[in-house]
Amino acid sequence: PRSDSVRVAVRVRPFSQREKNSGSQCVISMHSGNISIRDPKNEERVKTFTFDLTYWSHDGFQKDEDGVLIPSDPASKFAGQSDVFHDIGRGILDSAWRGYNATLLAYGQTGSGKSYSMIGFGTNKGLIPRVCEELFQAIEKQKENLEPQVMFSMLEIYNEQIRDLLSRTKAPGGLRVREDQQLGFFVEGLKWVPCENYAQIEKLVEQGSKIRMTASTNMNASSSRSHMLIAIQFKQVFLDTALTKRSSINMVDLAGSERQRSSGSEGDRLREGSRVNLSLTSLGNVISALADLAMGKKVLHIPYRDSVLTKLLQSALGGNSRTTLIAALSPADICYEETLSTLRYAERAKKVRNRAVINTCPLA
Ligand code: ADP
Ligand code: MG
Repeated sequence: PRSDSVRVAVRVRPFSQREKNSGSQCVISMHSGNISIRDPKNEERVKTFTFDLTYWSHDGFQKDEDGVLIPSDPASKFAGQSDVFHDIGRGILDSAWRGYNATLLAYGQTGSGKSYSMIGFGTNKGLIPRVCEELFQAIEKQKENLEPQVMFSMLEIYNEQIRDLLSRTKAPGGLRVREDQQLGFFVEGLKWVPCENYAQIEKLVEQGSKIRMTASTNMNASSSRSHMLIAIQFKQVFLDTALTKRSSINMVDLAGSERQRSSGSEGDRLREGSRVNLSLTSLGNVISALADLAMGKKVLHIPYRDSVLTKLLQSALGGNSRTTLIAALSPADICYEETLSTLRYAERAKKVRNRAVINTCPLA
């Protein structure tokens, strides 16, 4: 098995109206694959990072007649949704077709643009819909010698509880994670919907997003505290050679990475906060341990079992998957501390090495 590093991308969004109104300064700059951030309290303190992919989506854009954000002129370095798809989305599809597992994670503080990159808004469709759409377009072209199978699932992790976003009935206490010797961790009783075209998936994502919104409103909580995971099982049966290839694609819109501030409110809120932190904190711990391991440090234990999220992402992190992390960044000076902490997180993730293998077997 070949060893690949986790691919890390960073993307900086435009100012929000509120940031514009309050006269925010942009503290981020990008130049030839590097990203720099300057401390708004000390102009001379500049930190520079290097990542596999850098996307400048802050300025230099205009809207076309459909409302799609495009570069305002040929010299603009602006990266829109199609640019992000061109590298990251295509990479995922390429892995899937070759029989590798693929994982995509979006990390960043609330409001930094995770959902925009993953799902998108209106005509500015994000990675998940584009990946699904292109998957079916490619399937159409290969129908003669290929029997494809696409299974779709969508879940939310909130308070360390799993909610099936494709099911209207809520399991009390949530669905359980089970472990199988061969399959690893999986969610027991999760709904997997066989899909034959993109329109079906589009509808499922829409329904699932609605359930996610309603659930968080009912619990008087923000969806920014939950993780959303969309998984696709893609199986190819080649009719001529009787071979099968399987790929499992995981795409995760993580909870906001901002430190949960103890607002001094009821214990419920606090417990909620710290529990959501558990999955995110564990993810950080797993990434740190794997980064240490890759650098030759002695690591006795990778704490996958500490949280629901890290159990479900076990093979994506340090295992059999090609993994990409997209770190979403706010450009604003007031977000400096959080943005810097996101960049440090992303830098650690870069060091993690996976061992992806092609999942192939003769047709039984
Ligand atoms: P998050 O999911 O990280 O909380 P969102 O994706 O909801 O953040 O983004 C917050 C706001 O910023 C949304 O109104 C979204 O439309 C806008 N936004 C985020 N990223 C971009 C981008 N790359 N281009 C244009 N608007 C963006
Ligand atoms: Mg979001």
